[in-house]
Amino acid sequence: MSDKSWNVSFETKCQGMNLDVEDKYHAISFPIYQTATFSHPGLGESNGYDYSRQSNPTRSQLESILARLENGNAALAFSSGMSAIATLFELFEPGDHVIIDADLYGGSVRLFDRVCRKCGLQFSRVDLSTDDGTAYISDKTKAVYLETPTNPMMHVTDIEKLASVTKERGILLVVDNTFMSPYFQNPLDLGADVVVHSGTKFIGGHHDTIGGFLVVNDKGLEEKLRYLCTTLGNAMSPFDSWLMIRGIRTLAIRMERAEKNAGTIARHLRECPLVSKVIYPGFSDHPGYELMKKQARGFGAMITFEVDSPETVRTILDNAQLFYFAESLGGTETLITYPITQTHAEIPDEQKMKIGITDRLLRLSVGIEGVDDLITEIDRLFALAEK
Ligand SMILES: *Cc1c(COP(=O)(O)O)cnc(C)c1O
Repeated sequence: MSDKSWNVSFETKCQGMNLDVEDKYHAISFPIYQTATFSHPGLGESNGYDYSRQSNPTRSQLESILARLENGNAALAFSSGMSAIATLFELFEPGDHVIIDADLYGGSVRLFDRVCRKCGLQFSRVDLSTDDGTAYISDKTKAVYLETPTNPMMHVTDIEKLASVTKERGILLVVDNTFMSPYFQNPLDLGADVVVHSGTKFIGGHHDTIGGFLVVNDKGLEEKLRYLCTTLGNAMSPFDSWLMIRGIRTLAIRMERAEKNAGTIARHLRECPLVSKVIYPGFSDHPGYELMKKQARGFGAMITFEVDSPETVRTILDNAQLFYFAESLGGTETLITYPITQTHAEIPDEQKMKIGITDRLLRLSVGIEGVDDLITEIDRLFALAEK
């Protein structure tokens, strides 16, 4: 239970107090219930927890915090973002049809193309930032699945507009909100039915834990998903749940700082001679800028940019010191990613070209370091590339 009525700020909700999981010693740091099973007081009786695959107090505490942050009635915590998405897709039957956005996290595309399709699911890929998908809907269509802004091209999709299409047809609208985190965007408030998170990213926030979430409002949907999670056995472990709780305590201030740094760096990149394009939804000339202002409370900390040549890419990646050349995003440290060989390696070349994922495209997940240091590092790398 998330107790949506608790009327305090997001920052306060991040601290996780005042929830229904009781700790009899009133520990300030919620305990890690590192147990597989729980004893029963008597035949047919339970203390509320029976077996940790099904439920665990540390995980319940985390789920309640996350439900609150997304203004949902319930959240479920999984062992990874991918296991959250895979579990969600177990709702569907062979022959069902799902409309997916043309630009998505590479792992999600791999799941849909290589695993779900094999089980008889049908997919249509549509650029939902420009097309509301109506023409693709049939009586087999069960869900519309998107990210906004997208990874890595930063297309912005109007969640409310799509919700008006899906609601009247009884189709689920699923939004992967990983890039924005609940601090900047709450898709359920805009009419989405399911919010997906890779908790590995901003929510955990320290590049130390893999985890994922589904957040919903509908009780029936929650029950179906809990049944699937218990059956598939892919819930988050107690220790990882505790790390997530700890990460969330600073979510608000991390997001503020990372976004501020990202804005400064995006503007700086635009001035760098070897940079041919900077895609950041916080630029007023970004096509999604007005929509971002309408449906989100910030622009996030992700920047995609294109340089003049693959050689410049190599120089940057081989010589980066202050920020890391690594997959993933959303942590306290700045990471630089090369989508074509990393996050989007699994996507067929033709599709990559169509989306715009070239061998000159880089993605920055801006952290919370001193921004002057990051700028010095960027200048140093471009100076090396210019030689
Ligand atoms: C990382 C990521 C995922 C997958 O999450 P894991 O925790 O790595 O399994 C899904 N969606 C987006 C947008 C991501 O960035």
